[in-house]
Amino acid sequence: MADIKSMIAEFEEIALNPAKSAAKLKKESGKKLIGMFPYHLPEEIVYAAGMLPVGMWGGQTDFKLSNKYLQSFCCSLIKANVEFGMNGAYKGILDGVIMAAYCDTLKCICEDWKVAVVEPTGMPLIAMYYPQNRKIAAAVPYMQAEFEKAQAQLEAISGKKVTEADLEAAWTVYEAYRAECRKFVKLVAKMPATLNATKRHLILKAGWFMDKKAYTEKLAALNAAIEAAPAEAFKGKKVLVEGIIVEPIALLDAFVENDVCIVADDVAQQSRMFRIEGRKAGTVYEKMAYRIVDAYADPLLLDEKKEHGEELIKMAKEAGADGVVVCAMKFCDPEEYDYPIFKKQLEAAGIPVLYMEIEQQMASVEQYKTRIQAFAETLA
Ligand code: SF4
Repeated sequence: MADIKSMIAEFEEIALNPAKSAAKLKKESGKKLIGMFPYHLPEEIVYAAGMLPVGMWGGQTDFKLSNKYLQSFCCSLIKANVEFGMNGAYKGILDGVIMAAYCDTLKCICEDWKVAVVEPTGMPLIAMYYPQNRKIAAAVPYMQAEFEKAQAQLEAISGKKVTEADLEAAWTVYEAYRAECRKFVKLVAKMPATLNATKRHLILKAGWFMDKKAYTEKLAALNAAIEAAPAEAFKGKKVLVEGIIVEPIALLDAFVENDVCIVADDVAQQSRMFRIEGRKAGTVYEKMAYRIVDAYADPLLLDEKKEHGEELIKMAKEAGADGVVVCAMKFCDPEEYDYPIFKKQLEAAGIPVLYMEIEQQMASVEQYKTRIQAFAETLA
């Protein structure tokens, strides 16, 4: 157990200090770092180009400079990224940024970023566009062409030509990373107290600020230690969380204080990024494109049949969750469009739902604590 605790502490230290961790990663690896805006970006190409991708998942800050470009009804996650871009927080750490226009906010940010950050700092931006109709035959060659464009821009930053062998090696690293993450999220239910909501989040978040190969090795060691340990008794409630990101940390602590364990997630920063296993056949770019084609229950990706609710029901049942907690990012249209539909489906399936509108920088979580406590008390 001491071993498990010290392994977790290492992940916690990295995830709680993203800027420090990224600076350390850059110094120790001697590699350039590329910032990855949220959602489904081609990290494998960055890795194949001899650089390291790091996550750009907002953070704690006041909004001062970003107000020049962003309206008050912009989501706090992206506002924070723009604030950090403008106040110089990424200077000396990031050597470039990749973003894709997945939602209306990101479509505008792409243009704002060029003026607010690229012009004054010279930090390159690689803007990508993914197909709306990802299920049609043209989607795969279209995405391949986008990957090739991104590759050329990344090669210009790194000064290294990417070969097919580099891509295959990077794909192998990322498939191993995703498999280990899938294993970890399933193991949480075995140790609900040790792997409480906060620790689960920090263990997964640390992966965004580490070399994925090194992270995978550490996570595999943790998974093996959890498998070898006895199961923990737990009298609390188990939930599945849905949303873009579950932060601030005080919000996660509110789950812990109320004995509520997160046994599964449908969260953009977590499982949505790793739950799809890559296909085995084809070139690396085909396999990367098919990970988008095969993705499911993701409000960022067109879901003509509205299967999000059905998938949530399936995930909740498989994980033995007593209920679903929706952590809806304030002003996030894609999430808001899905919610009324899947709420009805979950309730029809007898699965209780708690809806909480959150902001990453909210100063107080007291009312959330009360709501989580009340929800836990109502669960069977
Ligand atoms: S999907 Fe939602 S949270 Fe993400 S950038 Fe768009 S509006 Fe913001």
